[in-house]
Amino acid sequence: MIPLPRWALPYLTDKKCPVCDRETNPRYVEAIGIKEKKSYTRLPKKGEVILFFEYHCPHCDKRTFLVADPDDENFSPKDMMQNILDTFSEKSGYAKNKVSKSKITNKEVERFIKDLDSCESHEEFLRIIGTDDKSINRINESKRKDDGR
Ligand SMILES: [Zn+2]
Repeated sequence: MIPLPRWALPYLTDKKCPVCDRETNPRYVEAIGIKEKKSYTRLPKKGEVILFFEYHCPHCDKRTFLVADPDDENFSPKDMMQNILDTFSEKSGYAKNKVSKSKITNKEVERFIKDLDSCESHEEFLRIIGTDDKSINRINESKRKDDGR
């Protein structure tokens, strides 16, 4: 689950999966965004924006969009976006963990590059980058076929 602002949760409670019609669960929301409403003039006029969620349904395994019409007129698109961003960075260091620098040390990178330089065959190279035996065999197999023998 991605961190969702508390005000966004009520917009999910009455939603159903558009594909299988099962009830939705905020846990399976994979993205949240806003969209200006200008092009949606036929909808009842409330706020300026449409709120949408990308949803990965656990029942039918389909990815769909859920759309909501936030009814707080005073909630500007900018405020809404800022609030979504704040929630991301506040909740359990989510943003920090995802965006932070790699934990691999320079030494490890150097050793890795050295290992790559020293490998003598394609197979050895695959092993170093962590390819498992099964995949290596498959790659070798297809290479043999490519050679036409
Ligand atoms: Zn579904």
